[in-house]
Amino acid sequence: MSQLDHTSKRIIIIGGGIAGLSIAVRLSQAGLPVTVLETSTLGFGASTRNQGWLHSGAWFAISQPELAKKCYQSLLKTLKYCPDCIEPHHTGTAYLITQPETLVTEWTSAWNECGIPFEILEHDDLKKALPGIAEQEIQHAFLLSDRSIRVDLLIQQLAATAENGGVEIRTETHVDKLLRKDDNITGVLLSSGEELTAQLVILAGGGAGMRLDPDSFPERIGEQHESKLVPLKTHLVAVSPDVGHLPLCLVDEGGFCHMPHAPQSVFGSNHWLTVASGVDNELVPQEIDQIWKNINRFFPSVDREKETVREWAGTTIQAMQAHQIEPGKAPLPTVIDHCQESPVINHLVSIYPGRATLWADVAETAFQTVMEKLEYHPRTCTCPPWEG
Ligand SMILES: Cc1cc2nc3c(=O)[nH]c(=O)nc-3n(C[C@H](O)[C@H](O)[C@H](O)COP(=O)(O)OP(=O)(O)OC[C@H]3O[C@@H](n4cnc5c(N)ncnc54)[C@H](O)[C@@H]3O)c2cc1C
Repeated sequence: MSQLDHTSKRIIIIGGGIAGLSIAVRLSQAGLPVTVLETSTLGFGASTRNQGWLHSGAWFAISQPELAKKCYQSLLKTLKYCPDCIEPHHTGTAYLITQPETLVTEWTSAWNECGIPFEILEHDDLKKALPGIAEQEIQHAFLLSDRSIRVDLLIQQLAATAENGGVEIRTETHVDKLLRKDDNITGVLLSSGEELTAQLVILAGGGAGMRLDPDSFPERIGEQHESKLVPLKTHLVAVSPDVGHLPLCLVDEGGFCHMPHAPQSVFGSNHWLTVASGVDNELVPQEIDQIWKNINRFFPSVDREKETVREWAGTTIQAMQAHQIEPGKAPLPTVIDHCQESPVINHLVSIYPGRATLWADVAETAFQTVMEKLEYHPRTCTCPPWEG
């Protein structure tokens, strides 16, 4: 292939997070020339600032059963593709029910309906795995297959697979602008002044599109999805020494959860705030205090003064349908082909995975979208490496 052919057929992916790298792997398998542009280091964004909860979907089973099923399938693919990125020493997650009035069968039926396996967690096993837990607060305990995951290791593996497949990955490379000719995206302008042409640009920049081409990204994107782009912020607290090796989720306490990342424990509230700007990582003290209230209720011996390692907030921009923007509901993975939106923009696709857990699912949707868009039919087998 000549250099001219190569560059004109190139697909540029903006963002070297979990979404950008997983779609890069898929497109390279189809033999397409792909360049990933990352402004910082790989995984610099939400992908490595999150809690590392690889969801089984059980937490969403009542409110969003379709999302729950997707999570469970993605979890199985992650375990197969990158077993080394799972934190060792646990084989599941404790789902605890604390309120006497909670209908236990509502949860267990939902798990059964979604095909998510579970078992009763015996008191002694819970105590052994989480020695400091306040047992008197717990009514019922189950073991689900959620895991605590090191997303940075998954990112490394995806990057290695992508590079083996011929993907060019450029870190420390900031995209300033999308290049446009009328309604067509023709490439990108880098902050170095370099222009790169492409047949298709994929935005996997965690919402970077809103900044790169503000005129084309009105708040509402929605002929296809009736969605809004919403920056969502949540808070996390890391304490050391870690409280035990079993992750946990309190199903009737707003999803308050703990993920062990030895030698620390990372606690999150699962309470998402809608914020005005996608880069708002300022701490909201009440959110941190609420997490601490729960830590001290369930692990009374943890001392905030002595054991806090870090308290932080992270933001992720998601495509949300109006009814999703409420407590306990999670964004759905969304892939948008902008030629079907208003305003129409050709040769542009954007990706919002919703949860890092859903990387394999969203990569597949994006892959199908791109294949249809380019009317491209690869001759070789393109089964994803996480399925083969
Ligand atoms: C605090 C927090 C906790 C979370 N906890 C969990 C959890 O436990 N489990 C779970 O499944 N999900 C969780 N999530 C959601 C999950 O992290 C995100 O859905 C997912 O990581 C988004 O991946 P991404 O690749 O789309 O975005 P990102 O990881 O943000 O990647 C986007 C990349 O694009 C780059 N970029 C941006 N602009 C440009 C530009 N102009 N030029 C070049 N590069 C650019 C950024 O540097 C970044 O590396 C959490 C999110 C947050 C914020």
